[in-house]
Amino acid sequence: MSKILVFTEFQNGKIKRSSQELLQFAATTGNTVAALVLGSTDGAQAAHHGATEVLFSADAGFNSYNPELFTVATAEAIQKSGATVVLASSSSTGKDLFPRVAAKIKAGVVSDGIEIKITGDDVKVKKPFYSGKCFATATFENTNVKIVLMRPNQLPVAAADVSKSATVTELTFTKPSLKTIIKDIVKGTSEKLDLTEANIIVSGGRGLKEAGNFKMLNDLADVLGATVGATRAVVDAGWVGHSMQVGQTGKTVAPSLYIAVGVSGAIQHLAGMSGSKVIVAINSDPNAPIFQKATYGIVGDAFEIVPALTAEFKKVLAH
Ligand SMILES: Cc1cc2nc3c(=O)[nH]c(=O)nc-3n(C[C@H](O)[C@H](O)[C@H](O)COP(=O)(O)OP(=O)(O)OC[C@H]3O[C@@H](n4cnc5c(N)ncnc54)[C@H](O)[C@@H]3O)c2cc1C
Repeated sequence: MSKILVFTEFQNGKIKRSSQELLQFAATTGNTVAALVLGSTDGAQAAHHGATEVLFSADAGFNSYNPELFTVATAEAIQKSGATVVLASSSSTGKDLFPRVAAKIKAGVVSDGIEIKITGDDVKVKKPFYSGKCFATATFENTNVKIVLMRPNQLPVAAADVSKSATVTELTFTKPSLKTIIKDIVKGTSEKLDLTEANIIVSGGRGLKEAGNFKMLNDLADVLGATVGATRAVVDAGWVGHSMQVGQTGKTVAPSLYIAVGVSGAIQHLAGMSGSKVIVAINSDPNAPIFQKATYGIVGDAFEIVPALTAEFKKVLAH
């Protein structure tokens, strides 16, 4: 039996859904599941999702992401835990941190996983290449530690089991003398889930005509509990911020439901959202490329359809 160490991420004191996915998946493999919790003493949440061991450090340095500090602590945690497989989210933190960790401990790392299979010590990871035009299955060779970064929303999540517990140990590590210090973080105002974590996304494109019309999407998103995304065309036009951009040069998302409104479906946009489970496209042009990817297509004027959908969802969800 091997040990799998899951790098857990928290937001507003709650373990992220992507970390829940990884812990629950790890627990199905029959291996020992350990969780690394940096910046909190809360090992219980990781235990409720399947970790039987928790390594934590509540050092104040972990309150915000500092690559130097996280690299040293994570590398030492992997070595101390004896884990041979490390799972983390292919989030911006994961993609920044783990190449550094891998270099430090001479481990192999595969990012952007969309499927994973662990049989004994054998790890296979499916990942897209060329903006999703083809897929490959990666394996590891000549490494004792295999690090896999999985895209969020690729693995199922069941409810937390609060009867489960874990042995909790404080991590001691060699503190580096930091060359960079984060002094202040200015947070955005949105209370909504980040796009990469969202289960439902309503995205708007140039078909919305102007910035003010995003209100229509916000109204629909509020009713559905969704996060609002956008195409690069509208980000470049200054209608919304870059953090909302989905696509090759924006965020990669994989929600259960992606509603694309006035979005043509350019290959660079599809690269970021074609992993969505159900895609609904609303476009006035029946030949728009987005319809080739859509599960359901609505040909028509977004300004008639979106308010009608919002009103209907409001009625249905009120019951
Ligand atoms: C290197 C590179 C990287 C890129 N990266 C990204 C990226 O990360 N993300 C991204 O999105 N793009 C990216 N792009 C840009 C991409 O090629 C497209 O230009 C962009 O996605 C188009 O955005 P859009 O669908 O909003 O606009 P358009 O292509 O102009 O489409 C607007 C759509 O709205 C429809 N429409 C118009 N009026 C209505 C109405 N009243 N009701 C309903 N539908 C209506 C039209 O039929 C049309 O299909 C990139 C391009 C390059 C070259």
